[in-house]
Amino acid sequence: MRPIRPHAAGPPPAHRLGGPPGATESGITGPPAEHSAGPLEIHTSPTMSTATQAAESHEFQAETRELLDLMIHSLYSEKEIFLRELISNSSDALDKLRAAKLTDDAFKGIADVEAKIELDPDSDARTLAVSDTGIGMDRDDLIANLGTIASSGTKRFLEELRTKGAKLEEAPNLIGQFGVGFYAAFMVADEVTVTTRKAGSDEAWTWRSTADGSYEIEPAMRETHGTTVRMKLKELDAEESGAKDYTEEWVLREVVKRYSDFVEYPVQMQVSREEVQRDEEGKEIEGAERETVIETVTLNSMKPLWTRPKAEITEEEHTEFYKHIARDWEAPLDVIHFRAEGTLEYTALLYLPKKKPMGLFDPNDQKSHVSLYVRRVFIKDDVEELLPVWLRFVRGLVDSSDLPLNVSRETLQHARQLGQINKRLVSKTIDAFSHLADSKREEYEEFWGEFGPVIKEGLYHDDANREAIAKVTLVRTTHGDGWSTLAEVAERAGGEGEAIHTHSAPDLATAKASPLLEAYAKKGKEVVFLTDGVDEFAFQKLTEFAGHPVRSIAKGEDEDLTSDDEKKELEESSKQHEDLLTAIQGCLSEQLEAVRFTGRLTESAAVLVSSEHAMAPHIERMMREAQGMGGVPEQKRTLELNPKHALVERMAGLRGSDDERFGKFCELLYGQALLAEGSPLGDPARFGKLVTELMID
Ligand code: ADP
Repeated sequence: MRPIRPHAAGPPPAHRLGGPPGATESGITGPPAEHSAGPLEIHTSPTMSTATQAAESHEFQAETRELLDLMIHSLYSEKEIFLRELISNSSDALDKLRAAKLTDDAFKGIADVEAKIELDPDSDARTLAVSDTGIGMDRDDLIANLGTIASSGTKRFLEELRTKGAKLEEAPNLIGQFGVGFYAAFMVADEVTVTTRKAGSDEAWTWRSTADGSYEIEPAMRETHGTTVRMKLKELDAEESGAKDYTEEWVLREVVKRYSDFVEYPVQMQVSREEVQRDEEGKEIEGAERETVIETVTLNSMKPLWTRPKAEITEEEHTEFYKHIARDWEAPLDVIHFRAEGTLEYTALLYLPKKKPMGLFDPNDQKSHVSLYVRRVFIKDDVEELLPVWLRFVRGLVDSSDLPLNVSRETLQHARQLGQINKRLVSKTIDAFSHLADSKREEYEEFWGEFGPVIKEGLYHDDANREAIAKVTLVRTTHGDGWSTLAEVAERAGGEGEAIHTHSAPDLATAKASPLLEAYAKKGKEVVFLTDGVDEFAFQKLTEFAGHPVRSIAKGEDEDLTSDDEKKELEESSKQHEDLLTAIQGCLSEQLEAVRFTGRLTESAAVLVSSEHAMAPHIERMMREAQGMGGVPEQKRTLELNPKHALVERMAGLRGSDDERFGKFCELLYGQALLAEGSPLGDPARFGKLVTELMID
């Protein structure tokens, strides 16, 4: 394949046309690295076709219009974050190009242009340009990226506004929390012009908008690949508190330092300085006029955060860095930063978010969000080999000193090393959970509320870490109102071999009201409630934990509860009422597999239980709904009766006198057992009718 070489021989490229001679939109100074001819080339061009293309006007998507409106009228005082957003976009674009050149043949031949981000303020014209030599955008990219809302952070911002029913006046705080990306430029600018050229393409395009509902796109010229965002800044408003002049050198220096210091590429700016003139010996020449010297300064330290000593990094720096990589709007809950030494050397910097990111359960985004660097060079993001799917909410990176620089998608088959790193990252992350559970319980509980269902996927899938995950798994139980870790439950369960009892229900209230709990409560045994949709699956694999068998109280017969004496008593009652049990079974043969007496009930008359390996009824229903009726066969259950309940005698009496109400009582008995476990009635109208009949009897 022919390497794509921008500006190779052939018809002059469109991006050279249509602009004033010598003009450059790039904002990047220095020689045009990819050009063979100078800017005048355009005027000798015989083909001017694209030059005459008029600007096309496009409407913004409704959502984007809404967002722009918010930006323009924003009263948010820290408007300076717009610069963080633009620099972040530039840094991403430089990352993307670097990665594409390493991995994508179409980009390999592209000549090297110094990777940098440049700020170009002009106080007279009141403009500020942010330029980069990144991957750039073609026409379709421009329409897709800057006409619609592509970023998940921004989508979430709008959603938050809607769900909170927030008003415009409340938007400021939300703007600060969410990075609203590119559109933040409209907080400080009346008009934004984006001139961009995609790496490998000959064409450049300009996108322009005053945020009035539409934007224009037209062919443009740009020296190198990359993007320039030029803002026509709003007039300074003396009334506005905290208003800053973003053409001032000190303002830009300060803002870059605050938000973008760690950005890996130089953020540069030209500054002028008055200098005294000196003679050859370096002595000041008296009386000589001061000279104006223009120099390029780099505003950020560029020191990758993770290479610095742990103790030196401040919380603010972590927060800014995390927001940069995770596109989150809140500070992280916790930081995991460590260096591994020995046979495999690497540094890992991982963050636990506070809130669920969008798409956490999106089936197309079930992968790790950890990036791989090799000796500080970004290689690839979302490296699946680095973390298991159940830790997909963790954000961060690994910087290895051992992997080769040219590891690409294909050669990421350094599976062994990555596998080793993965193992360590998982155990460090679980350690962090455990530490939070011990020392910051409230925060951990909130975190669990957000990510518990995902972590519990690990209980099912991660054989190697099941026990460790279980230790930090939070559950509600009959022991108090709060959360407990399973480790705490295990401790309370008694000696080794004593079971940990669980009970599945659609929600906590139903779980707590279950008649099945009666006997456990009486015997002082704790029961763990499993009310999360994922629990039934997660606990399927957790059959034992810390030496304790884990058992559902609604499945099989519970040996633990019944003493030998009680068993004997049950046997006798069963013999005595054999006919009654058979008759009830006869009435409900379509629904039930068996009817028997139990010692699990103390107050209630009846309860439904399943066989040892059956699914909980609400999960079975959910699966049937998801897969259609044919997919999951309905399991017949067992009705257990309390032999000491007055109802037993009453029903025995009805049956003995051949009372026609016996059948109806059976139906009612079954119906109320369904209701008690939170299952729907097969025929609610009939149930209602039977209850009414009974009431007027
Ligand atoms: P986000 O960066 O969070 O995805 P933005 O609204 O800031 O959202 O940007 C939308 C998209 O526009 C980006 O995802 C990226 O594809 C593109 N984009 C923005 N700025 C640049 C840039 N400087 N270079 C290349 N692409 C860019």
